[in-house]
Amino acid sequence: MSHKPVVLKIGGSAITFKEKPLTPNLRVMKRLAREISKARISKLLIVHGGGSFGHPIAKEYAINEGFKTKEQNIGFCWTHSAMVTLNSLFVNTLIQRDIPAIGIAPSSCILTKHGRIYAFDDKALTKFFEKDFIPVLYGDAVIDVAKGFSILSGDQLVSNLALKFEAERIIMGVDVDGVYTADPKKHSSASLIPQLTLKELKKMYKNLGDAGTVDVTGGMLGKIKELIPAIREGITVSIVNATKSNRVYKALKNEKVVGTYIQKG
Ligand code: ADP
Repeated sequence: MSHKPVVLKIGGSAITFKEKPLTPNLRVMKRLAREISKARISKLLIVHGGGSFGHPIAKEYAINEGFKTKEQNIGFCWTHSAMVTLNSLFVNTLIQRDIPAIGIAPSSCILTKHGRIYAFDDKALTKFFEKDFIPVLYGDAVIDVAKGFSILSGDQLVSNLALKFEAERIIMGVDVDGVYTADPKKHSSASLIPQLTLKELKKMYKNLGDAGTVDVTGGMLGKIKELIPAIREGITVSIVNATKSNRVYKALKNEKVVGTYIQKG
């Protein structure tokens, strides 16, 4: 078994009730903690999304548009504070399963420039990782050197960490079975795409561009776009349903599992 790290992203859609502000899905969190514990991955980094903790407040105060008025500062603080709450709920659930999880706040060690990671003081994170702790980061409101502040997505963070720590694999846990031909929540005829190569992905983006339409696949292709730099370096990506039992477990164990598997070629 490879000793290269695995980066596991748990989407906000899986560990919160997306339609209910500030509502965690504790049942899913607890099951995921059991699965992560059972999989016994020695080198693991975890990132989670914001779901109904991060997004509504960030949107209300237009944090992602950057600093415009001083009144937004309180919204920045609320956004970060909500993410700290979600992070600590998830981290506590992991610790209860004997997983040495340590929450790390991106806003304390990362700056962005026009929304992209620009400076990352990773000394403490690296030491934790070397000492076999499991860092748990998240999408966060961060300081942006160009526009004042910004929202750093968990997905951008995943790609950055996978490259930084030379990961073998990325596992993306979401609330659907993988990548479909269209948003499965809106199109009942959408079918699951079990495998994709970088070339096929690029073709999908090109078709979207040529059609001149909005991204019919909603957030999913945008999410994967963030992972392309990692895929290009040979890091594979499995997109699985984290709301269904054992999917994340099997992906962690590198076993065959329902989902979408993306590799360079
Ligand atoms: P998270 O916040 O959990 O990381 P998102 O909510 O951003 O995840 O993205 C997952 C959602 O993307 C799914 O719930 C699904 O409705 C939507 N989606 C849009 N297009 C697609 C597609 N082509 N395949 C799969 N899911 C899609």
